[in-house]
Amino acid sequence: MRPFKFSTTSDSNEVSKMLIANPHAMLLGGGTNLLDLMKEDVERPNELVEVDGIDIMKLLPVSSSAGGIVLGAAEKNTNTANDPAIRENFPMLSQAILAGASAQIRNMATNGGNLNQRTRCTYFFDVAMPCNKREPGSGCAAIKGHNRMHAIFGWSDKCVAVHPSDMCVALSALDAVVKVQGANGRQRNIPFKDYHRLPGDQPEKDNTLQPGELITAIEIPKNNFAENSYYLKVRDRSSYAFALISVAAAMEIKNNKIVKANIAMGGVAHKPWRATIAEKYLQNKEATEANFKIAAANEMKMAKPLEHNLYKVELGRRAIVRALLQANGGKTI
Ligand code: SF4
Repeated sequence: MRPFKFSTTSDSNEVSKMLIANPHAMLLGGGTNLLDLMKEDVERPNELVEVDGIDIMKLLPVSSSAGGIVLGAAEKNTNTANDPAIRENFPMLSQAILAGASAQIRNMATNGGNLNQRTRCTYFFDVAMPCNKREPGSGCAAIKGHNRMHAIFGWSDKCVAVHPSDMCVALSALDAVVKVQGANGRQRNIPFKDYHRLPGDQPEKDNTLQPGELITAIEIPKNNFAENSYYLKVRDRSSYAFALISVAAAMEIKNNKIVKANIAMGGVAHKPWRATIAEKYLQNKEATEANFKIAAANEMKMAKPLEHNLYKVELGRRAIVRALLQANGGKTI
């Protein structure tokens, strides 16, 4: 690991100033991803700025003025997943967090860090291989390489990596808002769908944060999904593995009619992928297995698999149906 300066502050404005003054500085939350990347020589910050002492980022989940909930960016994933208000009102988020990583990692990992974790594409971690995300312009080893775990939606010829988070898939389906603070205390809200990017010509950019900005909180608006939501994760082994496919499915159902359906997928794109085609199909339809199957098939028709991940198309179709059935209380009528 290369030498670096360690800084800490309790002032979020100070953090922005530090990030602007030193473009090679990075924020340190739980360090569960960043320290691995530094050990592999993938990330090379010359300064780490610890954010653990910033009070506004340490909020346990609290009710927002609009009836939703606000999560502090520096709060630990474990505390968020186990919070009674989250378990009662947003159970899908709790399920998604608990499906990720291991208990030890969740005890250290922060909410903001979860959003900003980097892809687990094996070529990204291997500094001997070309990777446009790690070294822009060097090429993409995965596009013609071993791409079984890679994207089937929204990829470009520059990068076919997927976003690794489970928590973010649930936050996407819950229409969360990312609250960020930049230079001079300037605050802005980023809708979750606009926070992460598709790779396009700049795969090195994972998200839409501007220089000097940091996430302070994540807000989830009030919704009527708690009764009919489910997070399904399909993976190679039952613990401590990234998703081959995951689905966060949430429905508001009245008299067996779907008033609203929000569906997001993980393991399929450079960002959590909103299954908008399936969502639109389900609007005002009856909550039946037949309708779930049509919605899932319509969504997966748009997939563009790579050489080694054709299996994800059928797996994705089945996973959407299964997640919707579970969200509907396991009813198969
Ligand atoms: Fe790098 Fe993206 Fe290609 Fe993986 S898929 S090697 S992260 S450019």
